[in-house]
Amino acid sequence: MIDDREIMNEVTSLLTDLIKIDTSNPPGNEIKAAEFLSDYLSKEGFESEILESSEGRGNIITKYPGEGKKSLMLLSHLDVVPAAQQKGWSVNPFSGVVKDGFVWGRGALDCKSLVAIETLTFVYLKREGFKPRGNLIFTSVADEEKGGGLGAKWLVDNHPDKVRVDLLINEGGGEALPIYGRNHYLVQVAEKGVFWTRLRTKGTTGHASRPWLGDNALHKMSGFIDKLGKYKPPQKALDIVQAFVSKIDDGDMSADPVVLLSRAEKMDETVFEMVKAMLRMTLVPTMMKAGVKENIIPDECEAVVDCRLLPGQDFNYLKEQFKKALGSLEGLKIEPIQRDPGTISPYETELFHIIEELTSKADPGARCVPFMALGGTDSRFFRERFGTIAYGFQPLKMDLPLDVFMKLAHGVDERISQDNLIYGTKFLVNLVKKILG
Ligand SMILES: [Zn+2]
Repeated sequence: MIDDREIMNEVTSLLTDLIKIDTSNPPGNEIKAAEFLSDYLSKEGFESEILESSEGRGNIITKYPGEGKKSLMLLSHLDVVPAAQQKGWSVNPFSGVVKDGFVWGRGALDCKSLVAIETLTFVYLKREGFKPRGNLIFTSVADEEKGGGLGAKWLVDNHPDKVRVDLLINEGGGEALPIYGRNHYLVQVAEKGVFWTRLRTKGTTGHASRPWLGDNALHKMSGFIDKLGKYKPPQKALDIVQAFVSKIDDGDMSADPVVLLSRAEKMDETVFEMVKAMLRMTLVPTMMKAGVKENIIPDECEAVVDCRLLPGQDFNYLKEQFKKALGSLEGLKIEPIQRDPGTISPYETELFHIIEELTSKADPGARCVPFMALGGTDSRFFRERFGTIAYGFQPLKMDLPLDVFMKLAHGVDERISQDNLIYGTKFLVNLVKKILG
């Protein structure tokens, strides 16, 4: 295989180039990045297809065809969250500058480094003359940061034959948590569901100087919000959460949430918070709106609650929980804004074992643990539509303090080390060889 220095130069400059192409979503404008990659890959002998879901919203698909039944996709997204208005950056977020062994800029972690690593995986395999036993597909999509409607979801809905695969590697996992003296790499095999929900209360308007004449919708809502804030939805330890905890501390699988939580508490604060959210639905009021004038009693109030449900829980479950929290739903309207159920892929699979095997070779003593993300990625569309075994896995050694690292994606001074770029590239090359070799 190519030496580390050569990988470092190529992956660094590709990532810098990608960061320089501003794909802040909105508006996205991912077509520029898609065209850039299409050119890049064509120099290595690949033909790509760019599919535009709407003007400027480019999705790129590159096939590395092979004989065989199994198919594998390397997935990533081209868009990034905006950074221009974000204060506190110590570099220009769209410069892709290399400093102190890190590449800096918006998308360095989420997820243009993965775009670069996956692109170079194709390049290096081709240069080696690798012949996959099954189709290998590189897909980098638009619109992940705004829900995927013009990206992965659109592709799955409109071009299912181009993107139907058995196995998929995507963003959303791969960080190594240093706990109990060893690295635990998170393999994202499940995602919680995202249910944004609007609540409405109605009342009667009137002059605020005579409160008894009106019926204040804001008062009603704040009563509800107060109760929601105090409510603790029931805990449920899904198999994957049991596996997550027991693989880290070598303890028994336990279905008792209390036991799992106390074990997680001993590991690390960040892990404890994660496990807490993996054990139940969360509901967090995030917005509230009422009233038109200082002296008018509001006859309508609107609130938004960000609800995150476990795989298997649906909108009916959510309403049940609201009813339990509030005693009664009388006087309250509940409307869904977004309903994306949680998804889960099995983790007792060949793909998981291959990731484990390669990880222990690359980082002796390290382990892989299945985990459930608290938010969603594009993997969910593939799990739902095709039953694809989709894992979030871009291996990342923790070369920054964990709490610093956790704030980088969507935050300021987003960056990734060149060591992790090399590590990730080599890992994916080996992974593809193992699966399709
Ligand atoms: Zn992302």
